[in-house]
Amino acid sequence: MTLIFVLVNELDSRRGKLLKAIRIHHHGGVEQLRHEETADPKLQSPDDVIVHLKAAALNFSDIQVRQGTDGKRSCLPRILGSDGAGVVAAVGSGVKEFKIGDAVCLYPQNGCATCWACRSDHQHLCEQPQRLGEQIDGTYAEYLRVRRQNCFPLPAGLSYEEGAAIPVDYLSAWHMLMTDAELKPGESVLIRGIGGGVATAAMQLALSFGALTLVTAENPEILSRALRLGAKHGIDERKQDFPPEVRRLTAKRGVDVVVDCIGGDSWAKNFAALNRDGRLVSCDASGGAQPATDLRRIFWHHLKVFGSSLGSRDEFRRVLNYVTTNSIKPIIDKVYPLADAAQAQERLAQGQHLGKIVLHEDG
Ligand SMILES: [Zn+2]
Repeated sequence: MTLIFVLVNELDSRRGKLLKAIRIHHHGGVEQLRHEETADPKLQSPDDVIVHLKAAALNFSDIQVRQGTDGKRSCLPRILGSDGAGVVAAVGSGVKEFKIGDAVCLYPQNGCATCWACRSDHQHLCEQPQRLGEQIDGTYAEYLRVRRQNCFPLPAGLSYEEGAAIPVDYLSAWHMLMTDAELKPGESVLIRGIGGGVATAAMQLALSFGALTLVTAENPEILSRALRLGAKHGIDERKQDFPPEVRRLTAKRGVDVVVDCIGGDSWAKNFAALNRDGRLVSCDASGGAQPATDLRRIFWHHLKVFGSSLGSRDEFRRVLNYVTTNSIKPIIDKVYPLADAAQAQERLAQGQHLGKIVLHEDG
């Protein structure tokens, strides 16, 4: 196979420089995050793209991969990170839609390429997922080889940090609100656990879509920030039982949609916060994965329950268009140098943030 490797200025910039990444060789605590030299990624197929990463955003799944918990034990060593944005540094001979120097953000998952899901461009439904930072090396790196299908133009007006914040969380939030729940302008949405990336993205999308948006948290400071960002009502779950409070705030009607990124024993309470024919979308279970629930409420009240993790490439395209058209700026909590990934993950684990925690390339 003959490949035409287009390696010009970007490659020159890499010569003589030690490329660094954050890689784990064993599962465990933050001490397993090694900031170390890595091999220069090479083009291996005509559809490959080498991306010079300028920013990588954190997800809680990064911590699960590091720990090897929640079914996320990875083949090691592994460079972490599912979210990234940067500049195209090299393209294979089959890549015509991107050229060296283009700013891109990355769709975070590939599939087997042969199953019905992959053939219909629904890689998020593939039974053999290849997610950046999990089954394949990820974005906590200076350079990364991806497929052309992973690359999308960075929306105009966004920084690399903001672009890196979009893929996992805004795609997941879009899939939950627009595809699963079919949110309509003027409907009401309750977003639990505001502060986390998906919840914050869901809040921004719901607000821009004209939904009455209620949020919950266990931190009054985070609730105050969410209200300043446009949420209509904030409920402190440490002090208030949220279903009756939601009823009080919605003239006893309940909300049309609940976004739950928590799970745990309070999960079943979501049903009591929904109006009849309401929709519950669930995307995480950090509070517990096996809550007890009363199924009768689901069919008595004609409720619909959706599970969600990422979305399709077509949905990602829609998200990027929507972000651009509506001038949405992802909310960045804090930015760390790549070398300080351990500090960044510790902040994420503490759960005191609102929006995305981002790594930028080492200066
Ligand atoms: Zn597949």
